[in-house]
Amino acid sequence: MVKTPFCVFDLKTGVPCPKCQALIDEGKYTYLDFEVAKALLKVEESGLGKLKEVSFEGSFEVSGTLVVIVRGLGIRDRLLLHRLEGELAKEFKGKYRKVKVIERSSNLKELISQLVYPIRVTSVNIYWYPDGSSEYTVGVSKGRLPLPKDLVEEIAKRIVGREVKIITS
Ligand SMILES: [Zn+2]
Repeated sequence: MVKTPFCVFDLKTGVPCPKCQALIDEGKYTYLDFEVAKALLKVEESGLGKLKEVSFEGSFEVSGTLVVIVRGLGIRDRLLLHRLEGELAKEFKGKYRKVKVIERSSNLKELISQLVYPIRVTSVNIYWYPDGSSEYTVGVSKGRLPLPKDLVEEIAKRIVGREVKIITS
């Protein structure tokens, strides 16, 4: 069964128990996370059995795109990824324009690659400013990005917690 921070019972009834409600009240997770966990369980039970290997880490929304962070999906299985994104888009129909599922990775290149696929990431550099702040500059090959560039940058920033600038090389 897909691993989420919430009780399976709660996800089935749609009502968080006091313990799960506390996770939300303390700000560890959001109502959106609860809704996404609910949808993931539903999608798994309606036939996407491979989700039993998956851990749900969190979700957020950027300009009408729902971003879902997971572990254990295996990003090379593009068929499974597309099916999952399609099923989640159905679950959240009318709420979000697009659903993007991202496999958590500590490798920045791997992470950004998922956001720009089929465009390739050619370089990743970190740039330090005199004031001590920093940003990543990510070079990508020419071509049409699957999402607008500013949206890719915003999503990447939310995931890595640092400014990310995409540059076509
Ligand atoms: Zn609970």
